[in-house]
Amino acid sequence: MKPANALLSQTGTTIFTVMSALAVQHGAINLGQGFPDTEGPADVVQAAADALLDHRNQYPPLSGVPELKAAVAAANQRFYGLDIDPVAGVCVTSGATEAITACLMALLNPGDEVVLIEPLYDTYLPVVQMLGAVARLVRLEPPAWELPREALAAAFGPRTKLLLLNSPMNPTGKVFTREELGFIAGLLTQHDAYAVCDEVYEHLVFKGAAHVPLMTLPGMGERCLRIGSAGKTFSLTGWKVGYVSGPAELIALVTKAHQNLTFTTAPNLQRAVALGLAKPDDYFAALADELQARRDLLEAGLQRLGFVTLPAGGSYFITADFTGLGYNGDDIAFARTITAEAGVAAIPVSAFYADAGPRNYVRFAFCKQPAVLEEALRRLEVWLSK
Ligand code: PMP
Ligand code: GLN
Repeated sequence: MKPANALLSQTGTTIFTVMSALAVQHGAINLGQGFPDTEGPADVVQAAADALLDHRNQYPPLSGVPELKAAVAAANQRFYGLDIDPVAGVCVTSGATEAITACLMALLNPGDEVVLIEPLYDTYLPVVQMLGAVARLVRLEPPAWELPREALAAAFGPRTKLLLLNSPMNPTGKVFTREELGFIAGLLTQHDAYAVCDEVYEHLVFKGAAHVPLMTLPGMGERCLRIGSAGKTFSLTGWKVGYVSGPAELIALVTKAHQNLTFTTAPNLQRAVALGLAKPDDYFAALADELQARRDLLEAGLQRLGFVTLPAGGSYFITADFTGLGYNGDDIAFARTITAEAGVAAIPVSAFYADAGPRNYVRFAFCKQPAVLEEALRRLEVWLSK
């Protein structure tokens, strides 16, 4: 038989699936893959259920149902003062995962260069490579995850087509500051490049940090595609409803990519998400506050046990250095060991690097009920005392 696709043949199963399966196998509390353990808002779920029964279950429009596109445009205006065309400026996708691929397809030609920032989300690099583009990787280093300005500037060149930026960032919890974004905007302008902005954690930002979409900076409106996810904003990660906002000329191309990927997204879910995005401000504030309390709980508990935690300003995740525990092995071994022996699953941070990343950090998800986080800490404590 002839060899099938070379890149996919070499690609392993995603670390999130691997660790979730291991967690199930060992009956571990899963602080690995990032998903909440409670349902999203009851009215949004009810709206999806109602919408299934009202005989509008055939193909919705290619770029999304009009009420969701209008809701996405309105949310851009309400939260960030962004002027997005509700008809031509939005494309609804099947999750942010599809949105990322559709945006990259919309912008890249084979041979184009893409600047990626490590640690990076696991779909970025394979999709860039599958499109025949060339990744230029720039590394943030723990513990500060500071933007390496010189290295970033050096990664840009005449062939740079775009930067893929994730803020708030998975797995670091870093929320890029306006000042850092200003530096990035300068590079994009200087090199006439685009930005694909993965902002799925836009509403999961804690006191002391503020989410600033790169798109809001001067001159960036025409260069940015901004991606959101209902999975994160409504704690319904299985729904896979994403949305891309941007200039009409680019959204037209994202929509053509989407037409070749999935064509549409479940109409009842789209209509329910439209209702969700229209929720009052206090819904969004409570979402962040509740999550912040869970971060505080896990952070304090991990510190008590001897981990050194790194500051998490947003997202579902906190990264923790386990060096002080005296464990003899790398992050992959540590994550597997605590899953099997302590009954708590985590994700090794080196999985977010293309090669040889740091080996002494794991990522814990804190989007769980407080009692579950407390039980996870108790299990770790028992294991450590052995
Ligand atoms: N981007 C980042 C940074 C993520 O962490 C995730 C994970 N959920 C996604 C994109 C994918 O989002 P969705 O579930 O909406 O496809
Ligand atoms: N974004 C989730 C995480 O980082 C995982 C999503 C997935 O499993 N594809 O945990």
